[in-house]
Amino acid sequence: MENINLNFIYDVTNILNTSYDFNKVIENLRIIFNKYLNTTNFKIYTMESFQNSLYKDIEKNWVMLDENTQKMFNSFSQKIDEFDKKEKYIIIDDNVCEFSKIQNLNKNNKIYIPFKKYGKIFAFLELENVNINIFKNNILKTFEVILSQISFGTLNNLLNNQMQINIKFYDAMKNIAKIIENQYELNYIIPIIGEMIDRFIVNHLIYVFLKDEKEQYKLIWPLSCNDISILEMLNKISFEEEYILSDDKKIAVFPLKSESKVLGGIVASSNIYPLNEREMTYLLQLTNQSSTTIARANMYSEILKHATMDALTGLNNRRQFEIRLNQEFATAKRKNKKLCCMMTDIDYFKKINDTYGHIAGDIVLKKVASIIESQLREYDTASRYGGEEFCILLPYTTIEEAKFVAERLRKKIESEKIDISQAYSEQKEVKVTISIGVSEFNEHTILNPKDLYKKADEALYQAKEQGRNRVILYQTY
Ligand code: GH3
Ligand code: MG
Ligand code: MG
Repeated sequence: MENINLNFIYDVTNILNTSYDFNKVIENLRIIFNKYLNTTNFKIYTMESFQNSLYKDIEKNWVMLDENTQKMFNSFSQKIDEFDKKEKYIIIDDNVCEFSKIQNLNKNNKIYIPFKKYGKIFAFLELENVNINIFKNNILKTFEVILSQISFGTLNNLLNNQMQINIKFYDAMKNIAKIIENQYELNYIIPIIGEMIDRFIVNHLIYVFLKDEKEQYKLIWPLSCNDISILEMLNKISFEEEYILSDDKKIAVFPLKSESKVLGGIVASSNIYPLNEREMTYLLQLTNQSSTTIARANMYSEILKHATMDALTGLNNRRQFEIRLNQEFATAKRKNKKLCCMMTDIDYFKKINDTYGHIAGDIVLKKVASIIESQLREYDTASRYGGEEFCILLPYTTIEEAKFVAERLRKKIESEKIDISQAYSEQKEVKVTISIGVSEFNEHTILNPKDLYKKADEALYQAKEQGRNRVILYQTY
Protein backbone atom coordinates (compact mmCIF):
# COMPACT_ATOMS: atom_id res chain seq x y z
CA MET A 1 0.00 0.00 0.00
CA GLU A 2 2.83 2.34 0.86
CA ASN A 3 3.94 2.17 -2.74
CA ILE A 4 0.96 4.31 -3.68
CA ASN A 5 2.47 7.09 -1.61
CA LEU A 6 5.77 6.77 -3.43
CA ASN A 7 4.22 6.52 -6.87
CA PHE A 8 2.10 9.57 -6.24
CA ILE A 9 5.08 11.64 -5.11
CA TYR A 10 7.13 10.32 -7.99
CA ASP A 11 4.47 11.24 -10.54
CA VAL A 12 4.05 14.74 -9.11
CA THR A 13 7.80 15.33 -9.11
CA ASN A 14 8.06 14.15 -12.68
CA ILE A 15 5.29 16.42 -13.84
CA LEU A 16 6.82 19.43 -12.17
CA ASN A 17 10.09 18.69 -13.89
CA THR A 18 8.93 17.95 -17.38
CA SER A 19 7.58 21.23 -18.66
CA TYR A 20 8.46 24.91 -18.68
CA ASP A 21 4.83 25.70 -19.32
CA PHE A 22 3.00 25.92 -16.03
CA ASN A 23 -0.44 25.67 -17.59
CA LYS A 24 0.58 22.31 -18.97
CA VAL A 25 1.93 21.33 -15.56
CA ILE A 26 -1.40 22.15 -13.93
CA GLU A 27 -3.23 20.17 -16.58
CA ASN A 28 -1.08 17.11 -15.86
CA LEU A 29 -1.34 17.55 -12.10
CA ARG A 30 -5.09 17.54 -12.46
CA ILE A 31 -4.95 14.20 -14.23
CA ILE A 32 -2.65 12.76 -11.56
CA PHE A 33 -4.81 14.05 -8.71
CA ASN A 34 -7.82 12.57 -10.38
CA LYS A 35 -6.05 9.23 -10.75
CA TYR A 36 -4.88 8.97 -7.15
CA LEU A 37 -7.46 10.95 -5.17
CA ASN A 38 -10.52 10.89 -7.43
CA THR A 39 -10.79 14.66 -7.20
CA THR A 40 -13.05 16.35 -9.66
CA ASN A 41 -11.55 19.73 -9.02
CA PHE A 42 -7.93 20.85 -8.93
CA LYS A 43 -7.10 24.55 -9.18
CA ILE A 44 -4.33 26.83 -8.11
CA TYR A 45 -5.03 30.47 -7.42
CA THR A 46 -2.00 32.71 -7.11
CA MET A 47 -1.55 36.28 -6.01
CA GLU A 48 -0.28 38.56 -8.69
CA SER A 49 2.49 39.74 -6.43
CA PHE A 50 3.40 39.17 -2.83
CA GLN A 51 2.01 42.51 -1.74
CA ASN A 52 -1.07 42.51 -3.82
CA SER A 53 -4.20 40.68 -2.89
CA LEU A 54 -5.44 40.10 -6.39
CA TYR A 55 -5.78 36.41 -7.17
CA LYS A 56 -5.60 34.74 -10.50
CA ASP A 57 -6.59 31.28 -11.49
CA ILE A 58 -3.55 29.77 -13.18
CA GLU A 59 -5.70 27.23 -14.87
CA LYS A 60 -7.63 29.93 -16.65
CA ASN A 61 -4.55 31.53 -18.07
CA TRP A 62 -4.23 34.32 -15.60
CA VAL A 63 -7.78 35.50 -15.78
CA MET A 64 -8.91 37.83 -13.03
CA LEU A 65 -11.25 36.32 -10.51
CA ASP A 66 -14.69 37.59 -9.74
CA GLU A 67 -15.08 39.85 -6.77
CA ASN A 68 -16.63 37.25 -4.49
CA THR A 69 -13.86 34.73 -4.95
CA GLN A 70 -11.28 37.43 -4.36
CA LYS A 71 -13.04 38.43 -1.18
CA MET A 72 -13.16 34.83 -0.06
CA PHE A 73 -9.40 34.38 -0.50
CA ASN A 74 -8.66 37.64 1.25
CA SER A 75 -10.73 36.59 4.19
CA PHE A 76 -9.04 33.15 4.20
CA SER A 77 -5.65 34.86 4.32
CA GLN A 78 -6.70 37.04 7.20
CA LYS A 79 -8.25 34.16 9.11
CA ILE A 80 -5.13 32.02 8.75
CA ASP A 81 -2.94 34.93 9.84
CA GLU A 82 -4.76 35.01 13.14
CA PHE A 83 -3.56 31.54 14.08
CA ASP A 84 -0.27 30.29 15.47
CA LYS A 85 2.34 30.67 12.71
CA LYS A 86 4.11 27.45 13.57
CA GLU A 87 1.10 25.25 12.84
CA LYS A 88 -0.05 24.45 9.35
CA TYR A 89 -3.62 25.17 8.39
CA ILE A 90 -6.03 24.27 5.65
CA ILE A 91 -9.50 25.52 4.98
CA ILE A 92 -12.24 22.95 4.90
CA ASP A 93 -15.30 24.51 3.32
CA ASP A 94 -15.32 27.80 5.18
CA ASN A 95 -13.46 26.89 8.32
CA VAL A 96 -9.81 27.21 9.17
CA CYS A 97 -8.54 23.84 10.45
CA GLU A 98 -5.23 22.42 11.49
CA PHE A 99 -3.49 20.52 8.73
CA SER A 100 -3.74 17.28 10.69
CA LYS A 101 -7.56 17.48 10.43
CA ILE A 102 -7.21 16.63 6.79
CA GLN A 103 -7.52 13.01 7.89
CA ASN A 104 -11.12 13.59 8.92
CA LEU A 105 -12.02 14.96 5.55
CA ASN A 106 -15.52 14.22 4.37
CA LYS A 107 -15.69 13.24 0.74
CA ASN A 108 -17.88 16.19 -0.19
CA ASN A 109 -15.76 18.86 1.41
CA LYS A 110 -14.06 21.52 -0.59
CA ILE A 111 -10.57 22.25 0.71
CA TYR A 112 -8.19 25.13 0.24
CA ILE A 113 -4.52 24.73 1.02
CA PRO A 114 -2.50 27.90 1.40
CA PHE A 115 1.02 28.03 -0.06
CA LYS A 116 3.30 30.22 1.98
CA LYS A 117 6.72 31.75 1.66
CA TYR A 118 8.26 33.58 4.58
CA GLY A 119 4.94 33.46 6.39
CA LYS A 120 3.06 35.09 3.52
CA ILE A 121 0.43 33.33 1.46
CA PHE A 122 1.15 33.51 -2.25
CA ALA A 123 -1.30 30.92 -3.54
CA PHE A 124 -4.20 28.61 -2.71
CA LEU A 125 -4.73 25.12 -3.97
CA GLU A 126 -8.40 24.23 -4.31
CA LEU A 127 -9.48 20.59 -4.21
CA GLU A 128 -12.84 18.94 -4.10
CA ASN A 129 -14.02 15.38 -3.42
CA VAL A 130 -10.64 14.27 -2.18
CA ASN A 131 -10.30 10.64 -1.20
CA ILE A 132 -7.43 11.16 1.19
CA ASN A 133 -7.66 7.74 2.81
CA ILE A 134 -5.92 6.24 -0.15
CA PHE A 135 -2.67 7.16 1.60
CA LYS A 136 -3.40 4.87 4.58
CA ASN A 137 -0.48 5.34 6.95
CA ASN A 138 1.69 8.36 6.54
CA ILE A 139 -1.20 10.40 5.17
CA LEU A 140 0.14 13.65 6.52
CA LYS A 141 3.73 13.05 5.51
CA THR A 142 2.87 12.05 1.97
CA PHE A 143 0.44 14.87 1.47
CA GLU A 144 2.96 17.30 2.88
CA VAL A 145 5.63 16.19 0.43
CA ILE A 146 3.24 16.52 -2.48
CA LEU A 147 1.95 19.90 -1.39
CA SER A 148 5.41 21.30 -0.75
CA GLN A 149 6.40 20.16 -4.23
CA ILE A 150 3.47 21.87 -5.86
CA SER A 151 3.85 24.94 -3.71
CA PHE A 152 7.43 25.25 -4.78
CA GLY A 153 6.61 24.69 -8.44
CA THR A 154 4.01 27.43 -8.20
CA LEU A 155 6.41 29.83 -6.53
CA ASN A 156 9.03 29.18 -9.19
CA ASN A 157 6.49 29.89 -11.83
CA LEU A 158 5.56 33.20 -10.21
CA LEU A 159 9.18 34.28 -9.82
CA ASN A 160 10.12 33.17 -13.30
CA ASN A 161 7.39 35.28 -14.72
CA GLN A 162 8.93 38.30 -13.07
CA MET A 163 12.41 37.48 -14.25
CA GLN A 164 14.04 37.04 -17.62
CA ILE A 165 15.31 33.54 -17.20
CA ASN A 166 17.90 31.91 -19.37
CA ILE A 167 17.92 28.25 -20.26
CA LYS A 168 21.09 27.49 -18.32
CA PHE A 169 19.44 28.71 -15.16
CA TYR A 170 16.35 26.64 -15.85
CA ASP A 171 18.55 23.60 -16.32
CA ALA A 172 20.33 24.16 -13.03
CA MET A 173 16.98 24.56 -11.26
CA LYS A 174 15.51 21.52 -12.92
CA ASN A 175 18.50 19.37 -12.19
CA ILE A 176 18.40 20.25 -8.53
CA ALA A 177 14.67 19.60 -8.48
CA LYS A 178 15.17 16.29 -10.21
CA ILE A 179 17.29 14.75 -7.50
CA ILE A 180 14.51 12.57 -6.27
CA GLU A 181 13.18 9.48 -4.61
CA ASN A 182 15.89 7.10 -3.54
CA GLN A 183 18.44 9.91 -3.52
CA TYR A 184 17.53 10.76 0.02
CA GLU A 185 21.02 10.52 1.42
CA LEU A 186 22.27 14.04 1.87
CA ASN A 187 25.86 12.97 1.29
CA TYR A 188 24.82 12.04 -2.21
CA ILE A 189 22.54 15.01 -2.85
CA ILE A 190 24.70 17.88 -1.61
CA PRO A 191 27.65 17.39 -3.99
CA ILE A 192 25.24 17.38 -6.93
CA ILE A 193 23.65 20.59 -5.71
CA GLY A 194 27.08 22.14 -5.19
CA GLU A 195 28.18 21.18 -8.69
CA MET A 196 25.03 22.48 -10.33
CA ILE A 197 25.27 25.88 -8.69
CA ASP A 198 29.00 26.09 -9.21
CA ARG A 199 28.60 25.38 -12.89
CA PHE A 200 26.06 28.15 -13.18
CA ILE A 201 27.71 30.91 -11.11
CA VAL A 202 30.98 31.50 -12.93
CA ASN A 203 32.81 34.23 -11.06
CA HIS A 204 32.36 32.87 -7.57
CA LEU A 205 33.34 29.77 -5.68
CA ILE A 206 30.40 27.87 -4.23
CA TYR A 207 30.43 26.09 -0.89
CA VAL A 208 27.69 23.99 0.68
CA PHE A 209 27.55 23.55 4.44
CA LEU A 210 25.22 21.46 6.57
CA LYS A 211 24.75 21.66 10.32
CA ASP A 212 25.76 18.59 12.31
CA GLU A 213 24.03 17.26 15.46
CA LYS A 214 25.85 19.85 17.52
CA GLU A 215 24.53 22.64 15.29
CA GLN A 216 28.03 23.29 13.93
CA TYR A 217 28.40 24.10 10.23
CA LYS A 218 30.28 21.36 8.38
CA LEU A 219 31.57 21.81 4.84
CA ILE A 220 30.03 19.15 2.60
CA TRP A 221 31.03 20.43 -0.83
CA PRO A 222 33.71 20.87 -2.12
CA LEU A 223 36.37 19.22 0.02
CA SER A 224 38.00 22.28 1.50
CA CYS A 225 37.46 25.93 2.28
CA ASN A 226 40.23 28.13 3.63
CA ASP A 227 38.28 31.30 4.19
CA ILE A 228 37.52 31.78 7.89
CA SER A 229 35.28 34.77 7.32
CA ILE A 230 32.81 32.42 5.63
CA LEU A 231 32.28 30.46 8.82
CA GLU A 232 31.85 33.66 10.78
CA MET A 233 29.17 34.80 8.36
CA LEU A 234 27.44 31.42 8.44
CA ASN A 235 27.16 31.61 12.19
CA LYS A 236 25.29 34.88 11.89
CA ILE A 237 22.47 33.43 9.78
CA SER A 238 19.04 33.24 11.34
CA PHE A 239 15.85 31.66 10.06
CA GLU A 240 14.27 35.01 9.23
CA GLU A 241 17.04 36.10 6.87
CA GLU A 242 17.01 35.48 3.14
CA TYR A 243 20.77 36.02 2.90
CA ILE A 244 23.74 37.85 4.39
CA LEU A 245 26.02 39.86 2.15
CA SER A 246 29.52 41.03 3.13
CA ASP A 247 30.17 44.79 3.05
CA ASP A 248 32.24 44.54 -0.12
CA LYS A 249 29.50 42.28 -1.61
CA LYS A 250 32.06 39.63 -2.53
CA ILE A 251 30.68 36.98 -0.19
CA ALA A 252 27.04 36.01 0.17
CA VAL A 253 25.59 33.40 2.50
CA PHE A 254 22.18 31.85 1.87
CA PRO A 255 20.51 29.72 4.52
CA LEU A 256 19.18 26.30 3.57
CA LYS A 257 15.89 26.05 5.42
CA SER A 258 13.37 23.41 6.24
CA GLU A 259 9.90 24.21 7.59
CA SER A 260 11.14 25.48 10.89
CA LYS A 261 14.91 25.62 11.06
CA VAL A 262 18.15 26.37 9.30
CA LEU A 263 19.69 23.14 7.99
CA GLY A 264 22.83 24.63 6.50
CA GLY A 265 24.02 27.27 4.10
CA ILE A 266 25.15 27.89 0.55
CA VAL A 267 27.99 30.36 0.13
CA ALA A 268 29.18 32.24 -2.93
CA SER A 269 32.57 33.82 -2.55
CA SER A 270 35.18 35.63 -4.63
CA ASN A 271 38.31 37.67 -3.93
CA ILE A 272 37.71 39.90 -6.90
CA TYR A 273 34.11 40.20 -8.00
CA PRO A 274 31.22 41.68 -6.04
CA LEU A 275 27.92 39.87 -6.61
CA ASN A 276 25.47 41.73 -8.77
CA GLU A 277 21.72 41.85 -8.28
CA ARG A 278 21.06 39.32 -10.98
CA GLU A 279 23.46 36.78 -9.49
CA MET A 280 21.90 37.35 -6.08
CA THR A 281 18.42 36.63 -7.46
CA TYR A 282 19.65 33.49 -9.16
CA LEU A 283 21.44 32.30 -6.04
CA LEU A 284 18.41 32.97 -3.92
CA GLN A 285 16.24 30.84 -6.15
CA LEU A 286 18.80 28.09 -6.44
CA THR A 287 19.09 28.01 -2.65
CA ASN A 288 15.33 27.88 -2.28
CA GLN A 289 15.18 25.00 -4.71
CA SER A 290 17.96 23.24 -2.81
CA SER A 291 16.15 23.72 0.50
CA THR A 292 13.05 22.14 -0.97
CA THR A 293 15.01 19.23 -2.39
CA ILE A 294 16.72 18.62 0.95
CA ALA A 295 13.50 18.93 2.96
CA ARG A 296 11.80 16.59 0.54
CA ALA A 297 14.65 14.11 0.79
CA ASN A 298 14.27 14.09 4.55
CA MET A 299 10.54 13.50 4.37
CA TYR A 300 11.03 10.94 1.67
CA SER A 301 13.46 8.94 3.73
CA GLU A 302 10.86 8.99 6.50
CA ILE A 303 8.25 7.48 4.17
CA LEU A 304 10.71 5.06 2.67
CA LYS A 305 11.30 3.54 6.08
CA HIS A 306 7.90 1.90 5.66
CA ALA A 307 8.16 1.13 1.97
CA THR A 308 9.14 -2.16 0.39
CA MET A 309 9.89 -0.90 -3.09
CA ASP A 310 12.75 1.13 -4.47
CA ALA A 311 11.06 4.00 -6.25
CA LEU A 312 13.66 4.47 -9.01
CA THR A 313 13.85 0.90 -10.23
CA GLY A 314 10.66 -0.68 -8.91
CA LEU A 315 12.69 -3.54 -7.40
CA ASN A 316 12.59 -4.42 -3.72
CA ASN A 317 14.52 -2.00 -1.56
CA ARG A 318 17.31 -2.94 0.78
CA ARG A 319 15.06 -3.31 3.78
CA GLN A 320 12.84 -5.71 1.88
CA PHE A 321 15.90 -7.59 0.68
CA GLU A 322 16.96 -8.19 4.26
CA ILE A 323 13.51 -9.49 5.16
CA ARG A 324 13.51 -11.83 2.14
CA LEU A 325 17.03 -13.00 2.87
CA ASN A 326 16.04 -13.98 6.41
CA GLN A 327 12.95 -15.82 5.15
CA GLU A 328 14.71 -17.70 2.37
CA PHE A 329 17.59 -18.56 4.65
CA ALA A 330 15.25 -19.99 7.26
CA THR A 331 13.41 -22.06 4.63
CA ALA A 332 16.61 -23.39 3.08
CA LYS A 333 17.91 -24.38 6.47
CA ARG A 334 14.74 -25.97 7.74
CA LYS A 335 13.94 -27.89 4.59
CA ASN A 336 17.53 -28.53 3.66
CA LYS A 337 17.03 -26.83 0.28
CA LYS A 338 19.46 -25.05 -1.98
CA LEU A 339 19.75 -21.28 -1.94
CA CYS A 340 22.09 -18.93 -3.79
CA CYS A 341 22.76 -15.23 -3.49
CA MET A 342 24.05 -12.99 -6.24
CA MET A 343 25.57 -9.54 -5.69
CA THR A 344 25.97 -7.40 -8.77
CA ASP A 345 27.63 -4.03 -9.21
CA ILE A 346 27.82 -1.90 -12.33
CA ASP A 347 31.40 -1.44 -13.56
CA TYR A 348 32.82 2.07 -13.65
CA PHE A 349 29.40 3.54 -13.04
CA LYS A 350 30.85 6.76 -11.72
CA LYS A 351 32.12 7.44 -15.23
CA ILE A 352 28.57 7.41 -16.60
CA ASN A 353 27.52 10.01 -14.03
CA ASP A 354 30.61 12.11 -14.64
CA THR A 355 30.37 11.99 -18.42
CA TYR A 356 26.63 12.19 -19.02
CA GLY A 357 25.22 13.48 -15.73
CA HIS A 358 23.27 11.91 -12.90
CA ILE A 359 19.98 11.87 -14.75
CA ALA A 360 21.56 9.70 -17.42
CA GLY A 361 23.00 7.59 -14.60
CA ASP A 362 19.49 7.08 -13.27
CA ILE A 363 18.24 5.97 -16.67
CA VAL A 364 21.04 3.41 -16.83
CA LEU A 365 20.14 2.16 -13.35
CA LYS A 366 16.51 1.73 -14.34
CA LYS A 367 17.45 -0.13 -17.50
CA VAL A 368 19.87 -2.46 -15.72
CA ALA A 369 17.19 -3.17 -13.11
CA SER A 370 14.65 -4.02 -15.79
CA ILE A 371 17.10 -6.35 -17.55
CA ILE A 372 17.81 -8.08 -14.25
CA GLU A 373 14.11 -8.53 -13.68
CA SER A 374 13.58 -9.92 -17.17
CA GLN A 375 16.27 -12.56 -16.62
CA LEU A 376 14.91 -13.95 -13.37
CA ARG A 377 12.88 -17.10 -12.87
CA GLU A 378 9.69 -17.59 -10.93
CA TYR A 379 11.08 -17.82 -7.42
CA ASP A 380 14.01 -15.43 -7.81
CA THR A 381 13.78 -11.97 -6.28
CA ALA A 382 15.90 -8.96 -7.12
CA SER A 383 16.49 -5.97 -4.87
CA ARG A 384 18.35 -2.73 -5.12
CA TYR A 385 20.86 -3.08 -2.35
CA GLY A 386 22.43 0.36 -2.69
CA GLY A 387 23.34 2.94 -5.36
CA GLU A 388 24.27 0.72 -8.31
CA GLU A 389 24.36 -2.59 -6.49
CA PHE A 390 21.67 -5.19 -6.94
CA CYS A 391 21.17 -8.35 -4.99
CA ILE A 392 19.36 -11.42 -6.26
CA LEU A 393 18.15 -14.37 -4.21
CA LEU A 394 17.77 -17.70 -5.99
CA PRO A 395 15.95 -20.31 -3.90
CA TYR A 396 16.01 -24.00 -4.90
CA THR A 397 19.08 -23.29 -7.01
CA THR A 398 22.51 -24.92 -7.03
CA ILE A 399 25.57 -22.78 -7.55
CA GLU A 400 26.07 -24.25 -11.03
CA GLU A 401 22.57 -23.17 -12.01
CA ALA A 402 23.16 -19.77 -10.41
CA LYS A 403 26.33 -19.42 -12.42
CA PHE A 404 24.36 -20.06 -15.58
CA VAL A 405 21.79 -17.39 -14.66
CA ALA A 406 24.56 -14.94 -13.75
CA GLU A 407 26.44 -15.46 -17.01
CA ARG A 408 23.28 -15.03 -19.04
CA LEU A 409 22.53 -11.81 -17.18
CA ARG A 410 26.08 -10.50 -17.55
CA LYS A 411 26.03 -11.14 -21.32
CA LYS A 412 22.60 -9.61 -21.74
CA ILE A 413 23.69 -6.40 -20.06
CA GLU A 414 26.96 -6.30 -21.96
CA SER A 415 25.09 -6.49 -25.26
CA GLU A 416 22.45 -3.89 -24.47
CA LYS A 417 22.60 -0.37 -25.87
CA ILE A 418 20.99 1.95 -23.35
CA ASP A 419 19.28 5.00 -24.76
CA ILE A 420 20.03 8.06 -22.60
CA SER A 421 18.86 10.69 -25.10
CA GLN A 422 16.19 11.80 -22.67
CA ALA A 423 18.85 13.10 -20.33
CA TYR A 424 21.18 14.31 -23.00
CA SER A 425 20.85 17.08 -25.53
CA GLU A 426 21.35 14.72 -28.47
CA GLN A 427 20.69 11.12 -29.48
CA LYS A 428 22.93 9.01 -27.29
CA GLU A 429 23.35 5.37 -26.37
CA VAL A 430 25.71 3.93 -23.81
CA LYS A 431 26.83 0.44 -22.82
CA VAL A 432 27.70 -0.84 -19.38
CA THR A 433 28.93 -4.09 -17.90
CA ILE A 434 28.37 -5.62 -14.50
CA SER A 435 30.42 -7.79 -12.16
CA ILE A 436 28.71 -10.55 -10.23
CA GLY A 437 29.60 -12.48 -7.10
CA VAL A 438 27.68 -15.66 -6.27
CA SER A 439 27.46 -17.57 -3.00
CA GLU A 440 25.62 -20.74 -2.03
CA PHE A 441 24.10 -21.73 1.27
CA ASN A 442 25.63 -24.66 3.11
CA GLU A 443 25.21 -25.52 6.75
CA HIS A 444 28.88 -25.73 7.61
CA THR A 445 30.39 -22.43 6.54
CA ILE A 446 27.32 -20.24 6.18
CA LEU A 447 25.81 -19.91 9.60
CA ASN A 448 23.45 -16.97 9.21
CA PRO A 449 21.78 -14.90 6.49
CA LYS A 450 24.44 -12.21 6.69
CA ASP A 451 27.16 -14.77 5.90
CA LEU A 452 25.42 -15.68 2.67
CA TYR A 453 25.31 -12.10 1.56
CA LYS A 454 28.87 -11.40 2.71
CA LYS A 455 30.32 -14.31 0.76
CA ALA A 456 28.58 -13.11 -2.39
CA ASP A 457 30.02 -9.68 -1.75
CA GLU A 458 33.50 -11.12 -1.32
CA ALA A 459 33.14 -12.93 -4.62
CA LEU A 460 31.98 -9.68 -6.21
CA TYR A 461 35.10 -8.01 -4.88
CA GLN A 462 37.17 -10.74 -6.53
CA ALA A 463 35.35 -10.16 -9.81
CA LYS A 464 36.28 -6.48 -9.66
CA GLU A 465 39.86 -7.31 -8.76
CA GLN A 466 40.17 -9.68 -11.69
CA GLY A 467 39.17 -7.06 -14.21
CA ARG A 468 35.33 -6.68 -13.98
CA ASN A 469 32.61 -7.82 -16.39
CA ARG A 470 32.76 -11.35 -15.00
CA VAL A 471 31.07 -13.82 -12.68
CA ILE A 472 32.94 -15.24 -9.69
CA LEU A 473 31.66 -18.02 -7.45
CA TYR A 474 32.49 -18.00 -3.80
CA GLN A 475 34.55 -21.13 -3.22
CA THR A 476 33.58 -23.14 -0.19
CA TYR A 477 36.22 -25.47 1.06
P1 GH3 B 1 33.50 -0.09 -9.90
O1 GH3 B 1 32.23 -0.50 -9.26
O2 GH3 B 1 33.70 -0.74 -11.22
O3 GH3 B 1 34.67 -0.29 -9.00
O4 GH3 B 1 33.44 1.45 -10.23
P2 GH3 B 1 32.28 2.45 -9.91
O5 GH3 B 1 32.58 3.73 -10.61
O6 GH3 B 1 30.97 1.83 -10.23
O7 GH3 B 1 32.48 2.60 -8.37
P3 GH3 B 1 31.69 3.20 -7.17
O8 GH3 B 1 30.94 2.12 -6.47
O9 GH3 B 1 32.69 3.93 -6.34
O10 GH3 B 1 30.70 4.26 -7.77
C1 GH3 B 1 29.36 4.14 -7.67
C2 GH3 B 1 28.76 5.45 -8.06
O11 GH3 B 1 27.36 5.32 -8.17
C3 GH3 B 1 28.97 6.56 -7.07
C4 GH3 B 1 27.65 7.31 -7.00
O12 GH3 B 1 27.80 8.64 -7.37
C5 GH3 B 1 26.80 6.59 -8.00
N1 GH3 B 1 25.42 6.44 -7.57
C6 GH3 B 1 24.97 5.87 -6.44
N2 GH3 B 1 23.63 5.90 -6.40
C7 GH3 B 1 23.21 6.51 -7.53
C8 GH3 B 1 21.94 6.84 -8.07
O13 GH3 B 1 20.89 6.56 -7.50
N3 GH3 B 1 21.90 7.47 -9.28
C9 GH3 B 1 23.04 7.79 -9.94
N4 GH3 B 1 22.93 8.42 -11.12
N5 GH3 B 1 24.26 7.51 -9.45
C10 GH3 B 1 24.35 6.86 -8.27
MG1 MG C 1 29.37 0.20 -6.02
MG1 MG D 1 30.28 0.09 -9.46
